[in-house]
Amino acid sequence: VFTSAYFTMNEQEAIEYAKTRLDYFAPDAELECKEIGDGNLNYVFKLTDQKNNKSLIIKQAGPVARISDEFKLSPDRNRIEFEILELQNKLAQGFVPKVYNYDPIMNCTAMEDLSDHTIMRTALMQHEKFPLFSDHITTFMVNTLLLTSDVVMEHKEKKGLVQKFTNPELCEISEDLVFTEPFYHCPRNEVFEGTREFAQEEIWGDSKLQLETAKLKFEFMTNTQSLLHGDLHTGSIFIKKDSTKIIDPEFAFYGPAGYDVGNVIANLIFAYVNAKYTMAEGEARTDQMEYLENTIEDIVDLFKDKFLKAWDEKATEQAARYEGFKEYYLDTVLRDTAAVTGLELSRRIIGLASVKDVTSIEDPNSRAAAEKICLSAGKMFIMDRESFKTGADFVSALKDCE
Ligand code: ADP
Ligand code: MG
Ligand code: MG
Ligand code: MG
Repeated sequence: VFTSAYFTMNEQEAIEYAKTRLDYFAPDAELECKEIGDGNLNYVFKLTDQKNNKSLIIKQAGPVARISDEFKLSPDRNRIEFEILELQNKLAQGFVPKVYNYDPIMNCTAMEDLSDHTIMRTALMQHEKFPLFSDHITTFMVNTLLLTSDVVMEHKEKKGLVQKFTNPELCEISEDLVFTEPFYHCPRNEVFEGTREFAQEEIWGDSKLQLETAKLKFEFMTNTQSLLHGDLHTGSIFIKKDSTKIIDPEFAFYGPAGYDVGNVIANLIFAYVNAKYTMAEGEARTDQMEYLENTIEDIVDLFKDKFLKAWDEKATEQAARYEGFKEYYLDTVLRDTAAVTGLELSRRIIGLASVKDVTSIEDPNSRAAAEKICLSAGKMFIMDRESFKTGADFVSALKDCE
């Protein structure tokens, strides 16, 4: 049944699949299965063998997005996810789940069960802190972004990867949902009532802002700088105190390196406004907000340090050694980081895909205030993107909008 034609599995079929198509579980395994997917696009089966205390995840790509059947997507994106996870396992060892099998007929990947970790968005909404996160995520980003660029890779080999991961359908989703729709009065936008007027005047009515988003969209589509994760929000990060694992790289393709960094920063800002508007005034709230500010600052500064260090150790391109070039190049990555921070802040508030950090703020006035901070900061990050050089610059832009 699993070897001739693709179909989307239910829990019972996933058990059957594991028994007949994978050699992961022992023959005497007593398998249970639960579909635990909470994302927009795919089905995630958790299989457990209580008897031998083993578990496994099978992620299967569905033919349409759960968020809206307007998005019909080739399930071949599961191949991209598998191949990227294999590559990231080499480039950034320990920061991604181990992968065991990819099945091109069923469009599913078997991988390590990370249930001992928590999805970072959920953990941050419970106002937890992860002091090692900034160190972990910057190692992951420098290793996956700089080491896949022309600075380090042999150029013909790099062009081969560019071709292998063009990912046109998932790129189109980002092109539309991140770069285009939030910045005009698009029927698909979902705008909170208390934010509508602000969106109309300050976003859709601002032709200077629109011009900048057009420039950024074309850079996203044409700058094949680094092999991106492409969807690096806090829902794609599994975390616990001593470990960080990055999942869900199905949007991966060659684009501007700052895209991933900016996504991380923006999603920490969503956690920041969540803390600000859902926690009672007092020490715990101040602590949580300071923790998030420091994390944003550290991520930018550690990213810079590690990037320059890895450049010195690993650059193979002769021209990359000329004095001043690495600083120039890093400046462009920081500029793109600021821009994407702004795009992500805007599109999660105005666009089709919202984030729970903000939508869970119950009091309508508080939610409108939180959204206004995100949109004002977003605009500043986009418009002034050339001026962000340090972690402190990112934090002070946020504070200016409070
Ligand atoms: P989607 O592409 O649909 O967003 P994700 O890969 O983000 O799918 O997975 C959706 C959810 O499934 C995650 O939020 C997490 O709860 C669960 N999940 C995914 N991968 C794993 C894993 N390796 N171990 C445990 N749970 C996982
Ligand atoms: Mg996901
Ligand atoms: Mg919305
Ligand atoms: Mg996904």
